[in-house]
Amino acid sequence: MLKLFDTYERKIRPFTPLNPPQVKLYACGLTVYDYAHIGNLRSYIFEDILRRVLEFNGHDVLHVQNITDVGHLTDDADAGEDKMEVGTRRAGKSAWEIAEIFTEAFKQDLAQLNIHEPHIWCKATDHIAEQIAMIQCIEANGYTYRTSDGIYFDTSRLDDYGYIARLNIEGLQAGSRVAISEKRNPTDFALWKFSPPDAQRQMEWDSPWGVGFPGWHIECSAMAVKYLGTYFDIHCGGEDHIMVHHPNEIAQMQACHNTRLANFWLHGYFLQLDGLKMSKSSGDFLRLQTIIDRGYDPLVYRYFCLGGHYRSKLTFNWQAMDGAATALQRLRTAVSQWPDPTQPDETFLANFTNQVNDDLNMPRALAVTWNLVKSDMPNGTKKATIVEFDRVLGLRLADWQPEAEQPIPNEVQALAAQRQAARAAKDWAQADALRDQIAAAGYDITDTPSGPELKPRAANA
Ligand code: AMP
Ligand code: ZN
Repeated sequence: MLKLFDTYERKIRPFTPLNPPQVKLYACGLTVYDYAHIGNLRSYIFEDILRRVLEFNGHDVLHVQNITDVGHLTDDADAGEDKMEVGTRRAGKSAWEIAEIFTEAFKQDLAQLNIHEPHIWCKATDHIAEQIAMIQCIEANGYTYRTSDGIYFDTSRLDDYGYIARLNIEGLQAGSRVAISEKRNPTDFALWKFSPPDAQRQMEWDSPWGVGFPGWHIECSAMAVKYLGTYFDIHCGGEDHIMVHHPNEIAQMQACHNTRLANFWLHGYFLQLDGLKMSKSSGDFLRLQTIIDRGYDPLVYRYFCLGGHYRSKLTFNWQAMDGAATALQRLRTAVSQWPDPTQPDETFLANFTNQVNDDLNMPRALAVTWNLVKSDMPNGTKKATIVEFDRVLGLRLADWQPEAEQPIPNEVQALAAQRQAARAAKDWAQADALRDQIAAAGYDITDTPSGPELKPRAANA
């Protein structure tokens, strides 16, 4: 039986689909004003594992993920700039262009990490009408007010606003000494923001309230409802969403449809860099390409992430990546030496299933994997079992082959033939000069009783 930690209830609960065998899953997507950093990617690896574990349990997952291409401000309290505008300034391109560039780059990252793409991608800017309709619904039910810069949600109208975050609303009200603009309550948030009167935004739309753009939170509620309905199985995102974004998504749902949107709320904890939070706005972050440029296979990062439970922070450093690289290489080499799969071993399969079903305990699932490798099972059984494990691990274990020896280039073979001819003519100077040319092309030539042999020079030679 699959058990998952539900942030809403703050406890581990047995998971049963609302409408079996289908499981509807919504994941908060990337804000595409920059590349994804490896922290973001940790969250998407966690969500991929979640989806794979659901599928491993025989569920039929419908995975929807948004792309935030408007409205996510640099400040969670509705001040600050739209992150997309920051991105356009940095890249010298339009907001529409950078959205496309970074969406494509993100999809490539996902492919390189063997993360399944969602069945439905939905962009905020493609769903302005749905967002406006939902704001109208919230307004009709009496939860909104207008300020000089937008339409806001009045969180004091809900008895349990912020329940998922266990917010202490009275404490927040009393402790809020900073000016909260025209907001009535510190936790109120923008549903629709007006374009500045003195400047034209690149992304803006007409609405019943005036020209402007949607607030960030409304996109997820409106698109989740459109594709998954008003109450579905699982909503997930990174831990930062527990305090603001998800309470606001839930508030919008309560105001409009009187549900809490999802039966389970799951959150992946942050990747940190030597104790520091990694953030895109710092302008200095690691992305998957940084890892690849350092010579790592991208799946080494996936393996590294599997080594930490999704509900613990994980600290990134290069030493840990080297450890992951060695482990993955040993795993792949072992699997590549096994013969064709026979039948999986039921006991190992049951152990692995128990671990992944225990709130996605991937560190323990990896330990079961290593126990299998070291066991004295027949290798065909090991192979069949690990192929099953890899449906969840996603490390492409059965596909990997030791690097094939590269064919010797024709030019190098021609030089070797000329050298043979020079030797036959006893032209030793010419033979030595040809050996040097062969070396310069990256090959060593050795004379053996059965003739000369060409080998690539060792990298450090
Ligand atoms: P954003 O692009 O800011 O909308 O974030 C995309 C996803 O990455 C969200 O689910 C965030 O919660 C998550 N996220 C952001 N920073 C980190 C981090 N350092 N570690 C793990 N997940 C993160
Ligand atoms: Zn969201």
